[in-house]
Amino acid sequence: ETTAELIDAHLLTVQDFPSEGILFRDVTSVYANGEAFASVVDAFASHDWGQVDAVLGIEARGFGIAAAMAYARGVGMVSVRKAGKLPGELLSEDYALEYGTATLQVQPNVLPRGSRVVILDDLLATGGTLAAVVTLAERAGWAVAGIGIVIALDDLGGRAALAGHDVLELSSYP
Ligand code: IMP
Repeated sequence: ETTAELIDAHLLTVQDFPSEGILFRDVTSVYANGEAFASVVDAFASHDWGQVDAVLGIEARGFGIAAAMAYARGVGMVSVRKAGKLPGELLSEDYALEYGTATLQVQPNVLPRGSRVVILDDLLATGGTLAAVVTLAERAGWAVAGIGIVIALDDLGGRAALAGHDVLELSSYP
């Protein structure tokens, strides 16, 4: 089975979560299956990103895949977290949600400037989240080697928000 087939076989799709009218794609059930999780991690780890110095994972469903890819490649893993979770010197980036805004943060001193990083998350919708993390990485002085996502939602414009970057999508849905 291909990675996309394994994702499709194990993906939980829930109507009206977290609110009325939303069709929620939950990768938790993909990560819970050993064969599917290994296939996802191997796809990210074996992709030709050029040099990779670290993997950035976005809270929360980006953490597990980023940690696993970082281990497979023998590089470090950096957590990009929601506001208020990380201590010390931080960079913060606000981004638009469907209603309101949210803030993501990273510790810029955990990697040297000039490091090449891959950014991983579970799902691409409008691309607002990943675009904010690209901005954080660039403000930290890191070069974005590429972006990996388990699921791309096709109709929400996310790819346009990430134009110019190497984006590896393991599966896509309308
Ligand atoms: P975007 O910023 O609009 O691209 O939304 C992507 C972010 O929202 C990711 O961090 C996802 O975890 C989360 N997200 C949006 N829609 C879904 C969904 O259907 N399932 C799971 N996560 C979602």
